[in-house]
Amino acid sequence: MLDVNALRADFPILAREVNGKPLVYLDNGASAQKPQVVIDAVTQAYAHEYANVHRGLHYLSNLATDKYEAVRGTVARFLNAGSEDEIVMNSGTTEGINMISYGWAAAHLQPGDEIILSVMEHHANIVPWHFLRERQGVVLKWVETDVNGDLDPAAVLAAIGPRTRLIAVTQLSNVLGTVVDVKSICDGARAHGVPVLVDGSQAAVHMPVDVRDIGCDFYAITGHKLYGPSGSGAIYISKERMAEMRPFMGGGDMIRDVHRDTITYNTPPLMFEAGTPGIVQTIGFGVALEYMMQIGMDNIAAHETRLRDYARDRLDGLNWVNVQGQSADKAAIFSFTLDGAAHAHDISTVLDKKGVAVRAGHHCAQPLMDHLGLSATTRASFAMYNTTEEVDVLVDALELCHSLFA
Ligand code: PLP
Repeated sequence: MLDVNALRADFPILAREVNGKPLVYLDNGASAQKPQVVIDAVTQAYAHEYANVHRGLHYLSNLATDKYEAVRGTVARFLNAGSEDEIVMNSGTTEGINMISYGWAAAHLQPGDEIILSVMEHHANIVPWHFLRERQGVVLKWVETDVNGDLDPAAVLAAIGPRTRLIAVTQLSNVLGTVVDVKSICDGARAHGVPVLVDGSQAAVHMPVDVRDIGCDFYAITGHKLYGPSGSGAIYISKERMAEMRPFMGGGDMIRDVHRDTITYNTPPLMFEAGTPGIVQTIGFGVALEYMMQIGMDNIAAHETRLRDYARDRLDGLNWVNVQGQSADKAAIFSFTLDGAAHAHDISTVLDKKGVAVRAGHHCAQPLMDHLGLSATTRASFAMYNTTEEVDVLVDALELCHSLFA
């Protein structure tokens, strides 16, 4: 079982105050705080071990290369990939999905071909596909969520037609907290020969992930939500799809030989890592993943389930709070509106005065907002270091909002 107080001591920022109140950080869906081991790793890398990677023949370059490359293995272990050669390092999910759009889909899809998306995707898993719609006449097919915010795998599979070339779906909604049964989607899609890209930006933070068990073709994660530095991340690409990819960005590191009229490329995955990467960010990312694995993803999931149940009970007790997404096994992410005229921005401003950090707006998920008939919600998103006492602080602050705005 996770000792949340001991764990909190690993995160120096959690001891600070905001607006004269103890910080209650509930904006983890946007980005998570960093443990001291990650901060130390970043400092150590810059202070004592910094050089560019891959091309040097000197001690520091080799050291930095070894540390950077070791992260590929760490990510492979974290995702249970079959090989570290199936891991491309990048700056986060946005880069990862754009890479698949340019490097795989653009070459494989013809006008009229279809990509299936759920209505609750983050813009990072929408806009790269809109580019293909605009530029290549690809058709986007949308699958709705039900009244509870669940996405029925059967509805996704029913949308498959003869022109379907890809399904791109989140494993965990950053707005509703809905957990999607991506394994069933992948099983069904495979029978039709349709590849599946899973946006794991949120899911990988809250639950164990096994890409081989899921059976997906692509799985994107982002370092800053996984307690690592911003500007780090990775994407799993199955061997089969990796062989079908063409380079997305060109430059140093991803080539073998460049001449005036000819070029040959490095082998994957380096073929997909052009230019100087986020060296130190990636090293910190690796330390963050090791830290999470040491705590244990099952322990993290169990603690967050307790938090979710407690928060759900407390919020359900406030009949003027309208939580969006009532899926039975949703993650500890609560997007809500309050009865009365209060705008999400006003609510978050009042909460901030009480030291409670939440997010307000469309959460980069405007198709979902359209589906819900809302322009904005307030979102409290929990992490492994949050406590039930912090839920109480949130509820007290919401009661203040209610008294001010109702
Ligand atoms: N996908 C989901 C579900 C997200 O929640 C986010 C970030 O909020 C992203 C993708 C984009 O991640 P990043 O901005 O780190 O690339």
